[in-house]
Parts: sequence; C-alpha cells; structure tokens
Amino acid sequence: MTESVVAQAGFDLHTHSVYSDGTTRPGEIARDAAKLGLTGFALTDHDTIDGWDEAREGAADADIDFFPGIEITTKHDGRSRHLLGYGIAPIAGELFDALAHVRRSRLTRARQMVALVARDYAITWEGVIGDADARTIGRPHIADALVAAGYFPDRSTVFTEVLYPRSPYYLGTDAIETVDAIRMVRAAGGVAVLAHPAAFRQRTPVSPREIEVLAASGLSGVEVRHPEHRDDWMPPIIAAVSRLGLLGTGSSDYHGTGKPNLLGQQVTDLDTVARLRTGVATPR
Ligand code: AMP
Ligand code: FE
Ligand code: FE
Ligand code: ZN
Repeated sequence: MTESVVAQAGFDLHTHSVYSDGTTRPGEIARDAAKLGLTGFALTDHDTIDGWDEAREGAADADIDFFPGIEITTKHDGRSRHLLGYGIAPIAGELFDALAHVRRSRLTRARQMVALVARDYAITWEGVIGDADARTIGRPHIADALVAAGYFPDRSTVFTEVLYPRSPYYLGTDAIETVDAIRMVRAAGGVAVLAHPAAFRQRTPVSPREIEVLAASGLSGVEVRHPEHRDDWMPPIIAAVSRLGLLGTGSSDYHGTGKPNLLGQQVTDLDTVARLRTGVATPR
C-alpha cells in the first residue's frame, strides 16, 4: 500500500448528504470514500436518518463499511451544540418524536427567515425547498437559493454576508437539550459523540466542565479532529477527554460542494470505531 492510502485508512465519521444540507447523494459518498481508500464512513445528516438505506446500498456496492449516524440539533445552557448519534435503532420512540419536532421547528423558522430575506432579495419559499430530497431544512438551503438567484458566488459568502447569527435575517430554531438527546440516543441503543467542540465559528470552545457534565449524562466520545477546529482551543478539551476516559474521533463534516471540507480530511482509527460499536446495544 502507498503511504497516502495508509494515511486514509479508518472511518470518516461525519458526513452530510442531500437528505439534509449536503450536496451529494449517500451512494456517491460511499463511492468516493471507497475511492479514497477509507475503511468505512458514517452518514450523519442533520436530524434525519432517511439517507441510511441509500448509504447502506452504496456501501455494499462500493465494498466499504457503513456505520449509521445522525447529527442532532441540541442546546446546553442555551448554547447550540451538535450531537452525533451512532448505531441507533431506526424504530419509533422518544428520540424520533423529538427529531420530528426539531424538523418541524426548522421548517417554520426557515419560512420566517425566507420572508425576512425576501424583503431585500428576490427569492421564494418554493425556490428554497426546491428539489425536495432534504428532510431537514436549514440556512444552507436559503443560501443556495441566494446563490442560484445570482446574488452571491457560494454558500460561505452568503453565511458571511447574510445568514450569520447576529444578522437581521437570522432566527433561532428549537433544539433538544443535549443531556436529553444523549439519554435518548442511548435508550435507542446508540452511542453519543459531541461534534466539533472547538469550531472557530463558536464564540468560545466547549468547556472541560461541560464535557464532564455531558460525560456524566452518558456521552461516549468527543470529535477531537475536525477541519473547522481552532488548534489553540484544543488542549483543555483533549485533556478532559483523556481524564474522563472518553473516545476521541476525527471526521471531515463533508457537505459536498456546500463547504470546503474534503471527504476523509480527518478520520477515526479502527480501534476507536470498534469501541464505539461495542457501545452500541446491538452492533450495527
Ligand atoms: P442551521 O442549522 O440551519 O442554522 O445551519 C447551520 C448549518 O449551516 C451547519 O450545519 C453548516 O452545515 C452550515 N454552515 C454554517 N456556516 C457555514 C459556512 N460559513 N459555509 C457553509 N455552510 C455553513
Ligand atoms: Fe450542516
Ligand atoms: Fe455540526
Ligand atoms: Zn455536520
């Protein structure tokens, strides 16, 4: 094996498809991950598991391992926190009721944001929900409509100029309490990992104290390698992960062409994936 292939062995544990705010189909992610020489990948669309079937089929065709996941919209102490859930059973229950509520709230919020944006830019709700694979609507879909209408060159520019959190067009959306989401993921037979705790767009990193609280609530791991992390924010987080005996994961948070993040840019080693799978009630 060449060195570049060895460097990419492992799992990319955080990817998005057209079922939320990614731009590629789950099967394409599987095929591209296999081409990169990855051992496996997780599909972690925002608040939906509807891409799992396509991902699983694509993974079988591409001869690559698939670990089912989700990225849940949560909040802790009023601050937005994204929680990755892996290996949850796809059956009705408290978690899926809560996710349905979050998706409905996102829809209402997006409609209201579009009404605000449409005062100044010629976009419509129909243009935003467009080709409708998405089960979860977010700011990226509004951004895409503004790009399609020719106002901005890409999503990132729209986020910087129009859809940033303090902008007059911005509205929040309902989120599940992070500790409740951890409990629900575990009740559904899965394991929970805190996503991107040091992403540079946050005002501050997640504190070691908060990680301790989440660990006491059943958190299994923390995403310690992520393309948007600020390296100078990481040492206290790494120390907490190690002190609390949590698993550390790495992933790309791939969104197709929706973000600069490249598939396989960060990966998780096979031993850590095996430990995550051991924490899954019925291995999936
Ligand atoms: P929302 O959950 O609807 O508030 O939208 C947040 C999502 O927008 C995140 O999950 C990212 O995928 C995406 N996002 C945030 N900032 C940017 C950016 N600067 N460029 C592209 N996508 C972004
Ligand atoms: Fe996203
Ligand atoms: Fe996220
Ligand atoms: Zn993500």
